[in-house]
Amino acid sequence: MELGIAILLVIGLAVFTITPLLAPEGSAEDALPIDVTPLTDLKRRRMVVYENLKDLEFEYEAGKVAKDDYQSLRENHLAEAAQLMLASQEQEEITENDLLIEKQVAERRAQRKSKRPDPFVCPECEFENPLSVKYCGNCGKELPQRSRKK
Ligand SMILES: [Zn+2]
Repeated sequence: MELGIAILLVIGLAVFTITPLLAPEGSAEDALPIDVTPLTDLKRRRMVVYENLKDLEFEYEAGKVAKDDYQSLRENHLAEAAQLMLASQEQEEITENDLLIEKQVAERRAQRKSKRPDPFVCPECEFENPLSVKYCGNCGKELPQRSRKK
């Protein structure tokens, strides 16, 4: 009986320790770290392609790859690199456009802020009430409706 419990404990412990080691393998693909932007991801993939290209070059020179295979593989790698580079450029343009749009939005916001109607000014004490209140927040005098400063 005690042996059974001990075995169960060992198995449980083993599963508990092994599971975290196995988990990242499958989830690495879809769960990118937060700081990986599409651009850095593309760059990383391009580095991998260049790495493969270097390996291929090396293997070809070592006589491990036939010339035909080498040429077709090399073309594939180069095409992939070109595609990734193009995607990077597009991504960079998107990022630039985003920045431009953000800038424009910020400018519009700043404009809107400066164009905001003047606060309701008390004709009595000239206190600027931030809202269209009925009574002045400073002197308590009843404010005429829509007493906006021009
Ligand atoms: Zn007042």
